[in-house]
Formats: sequence, structure tokens, C-alpha cells
Amino acid sequence: MEKFYSVAIDGPAGAGKSSMARKVSQRLHFLYLDTGAIYRTVGYQMALLGVSPKDTDGICKYIDEVNLQIQFDETGRQHMLLSGMDVTEQIRSPQMSIMASAVAAQGCVRDYLLDMQRQFAQNHNVVMDGRDIGTVVLPHADVKIFLTASAEVRARRRCKELLEKGQPAEYAEVLADIERRDWADSHRQIAPLKKADDAIELDTSELDIDQSAAKIEQIIRERIDL
Ligand code: C5P
Repeated sequence: MEKFYSVAIDGPAGAGKSSMARKVSQRLHFLYLDTGAIYRTVGYQMALLGVSPKDTDGICKYIDEVNLQIQFDETGRQHMLLSGMDVTEQIRSPQMSIMASAVAAQGCVRDYLLDMQRQFAQNHNVVMDGRDIGTVVLPHADVKIFLTASAEVRARRRCKELLEKGQPAEYAEVLADIERRDWADSHRQIAPLKKADDAIELDTSELDIDQSAAKIEQIIRERIDL
């Protein structure tokens, strides 16, 4: 059987996981799977159904009916489809960040998505980013990286990103949202955000994107013979 390699990148919201995973996967010719987008898509489906983020029973009642598909275009960009409809853009709103965090705290949702993520890694060389990839989804990943940066640095980066998209945001609000999500993601009972014992921690507060990506690529190449 062909051996596929997997790289797990976990860390809090805004640490730069997706930018890093995207860049590094391109350099290594691996696929990049953004697992946050999967939770966002489930959150979007619940919002369409009118299920409140606090309605645990409602979320678990409908989860089996969520018909989601992951597709990659020729540039390697991941598209999320819900019952055949491309919702890649719609899932990026701040409201969907909150819905994603809410559905992600439910065991029924995590169980439903676990196999999908594992099967993906069994069939591709992959860089996967999320909160529990190194701890729960791929405990035997070839390389595990825990990416961090201070909440202030993460909030500044997110503001810059939003401004570039033409959606200027208040720094104080972005910081509060990041702190709220950090708390929710690390205090939930199921699959909380935490560093795997064998993950390499990288604090990117003082590094720019290129420096961080170079460091991550170096960590991976030292551990996988490509
Ligand atoms: O990474 P992103 O901000 O898109 O993730 C949205 C939300 O999905 C996170 O706040 C987190 O609650 C949840 N998530 C998760 N496990 C993952 C990926 C994301 O719980 N592997």
C-alpha cells in the first residue's frame, strides 16, 4: 500500500494556520485540508435550518442530514459544497465563526466528521489544520506543529486581513472575538484545543509569514524524507 504523509497544524484562531498550511502544502506538493471550513459548513447548514447555536439537541438531530462535500480546484483551493451548492465564501462571515465554534463543541458533530477527515489523510499526502488534528484526528501524524502567537498579534493580523478584503473592523472587537473563541475552544469538554505531547510549538508573534513558513517547512523536511 502506498504510504501517504500527514502534517497536523493546530493552534488558536488567527495564529496563521491556514496561511502557513496553504504555503507549505504548495511547497511540498501536498493537499491542504482546512478542517475549520468543514465545521463552518456544518454551522452554515444549521443556520439555514434556523437551529440556534445553543440548541444542542437541534444540532445533533440534523447532523446526519448534512450533505457536505469537499472539492479542490486546479489551484488546490478547497471548496465546500452543501447539498451541491458552493458555500465557500458564505462560511467566512464572523457569524459563521460563532456558529462553527458552537457546532464544534458537540460530540455528535465531531464524531460525524472524524471519519471523513481520517479517510482523507489515508488517501493523500496532506497538511491539515484545525484544533484537534494532532491530538484526536491524526494522533499518528508524521509531523505535528502547534502554532501560536499572542492574542494581540493575532487580532492585529486579522484586522489587516479584513481591511484588505474591504471589511474594516474595530481592533477591540476583533481582539474580544479572538479571546472569546480561545476560551470556548480550549475549555470545551470534547476535543479541546491543546498541544499534543509530541507537537512542536512555534510562536510566530515575532515572525512574518515567509519566516514562519520557512521555519515550518524546515521542521517538516527534518522529519519526512521527501
Ligand atoms: O479555523 P477556523 O476559524 O475556520 O475554525 C472555525 C471554528 O471551528 C473554530 O473556532 C473551532 O471552534 C472549530 N474547529 C474545531 N476543530 C477543528 C477546526 C475548527 O473545533 N479541527
